[in-house]
Amino acid sequence: MEPRVSPGTVMPLAGRRLELARAAYREISLYAPDRSPCAIDLSDNTNLFGAPPAALVTVRETAESVVTRYPSLYTPDLKVALAAYARTDPAEIVTGCGSDDVLDSAIRAVTEPGDLIAMPDPSFAMIPIFARMNGLRSISIPLRPDLDIDADALLATGARVIYVCTPNNPTGTLAGIDAVHRIIDGAPGVVIIDEAYAEFAGDGFIADAPRHEHVLVVRTFSKAFGLAGLRIGYAAGNAALVAEVEKSRGPYKVNALAEGAAAAALTYDGEWVRRHIAEAIANRARLVTELQALGVIALPSQANFVLIPVAGAVAIAAALRRRGIAVRPMADLPLIGDALRISIGPWWMMEAFVERFRETLASASGPINPARRSP
Ligand SMILES: *Cc1c(COP(=O)(O)O)cnc(C)c1O
Repeated sequence: MEPRVSPGTVMPLAGRRLELARAAYREISLYAPDRSPCAIDLSDNTNLFGAPPAALVTVRETAESVVTRYPSLYTPDLKVALAAYARTDPAEIVTGCGSDDVLDSAIRAVTEPGDLIAMPDPSFAMIPIFARMNGLRSISIPLRPDLDIDADALLATGARVIYVCTPNNPTGTLAGIDAVHRIIDGAPGVVIIDEAYAEFAGDGFIADAPRHEHVLVVRTFSKAFGLAGLRIGYAAGNAALVAEVEKSRGPYKVNALAEGAAAAALTYDGEWVRRHIAEAIANRARLVTELQALGVIALPSQANFVLIPVAGAVAIAAALRRRGIAVRPMADLPLIGDALRISIGPWWMMEAFVERFRETLASASGPINPARRSP
């Protein structure tokens, strides 16, 4: 074998890394949103009201043996609690280290490298990344002008996997029930429905998923349930499909503290979760009204965040951060243009945001231009 590097030459680390890594990883950079500390963080849609009390007690009172020993392989107890919550059977549930893990495992379980995955645009930013990590080709289908998913165009891709997020991140809008049913009925492959925010919107498709052999509905404890730091996600689907996702996921992916806390939250914290969902929804409506007074029109959200189209969103977010408030800027979204995504929390946080936002807009040079392109 020919040495590629002559003795004494130091090969640049980056170059060497490229050659060692899987080819599909070359275009992937680490997910690294600005996470520097900020007094009020409205950037990631976690539960700004806190964590449910029984889940917290479970974590605080964890026995030493729970920490020293391995957790269960596939969380059988949590599946029983989830099945009751989702109105399915425990065999129709798969859990994971956050719903990100479930989504990644599901995509890998039902594709071969080179297969196609189709998704709406804009939608959850991690999906194109999971697609690349698994060697897939991906195709983005713009939302329709009414912000519903374009079922015909998604189906016309013939993709092995069609991903739909409802309520959709980052728009907050729902996919129409008819459009989702058309996709379920017409898809040649697997349909993944991401319901990370379903608790803020009503029922969703989760209880129906197991009736179809090719539909997986994915949910999380990171948003309405306030347990993002523990990393617990799950999906419901036909038992045969779920078993394949579980193989792809692998054993021991949900740690023992997370499993205990999630089961406790489902068993004892329903009232806490429902109360804070109601408060988030009320504060969302109130925020939308206050923003209107500033001439800013939020998209109609069914989630615990709102998206507001504002030109120069990246610069505005940076200015807000200097004033102690983190929000998520989006640049040049299809149909929408630049926009800010703002998580909904207790009213004092919303009030602080409106105040700082008003100041930021006032000190910006040009007039605000809410919608650069009309949706
Ligand atoms: C937050 C979010 C998730 C991921 O949640 P985890 O369970 O914390 O991994 C998945 N999908 C969407 C659309 C989200 O916004």
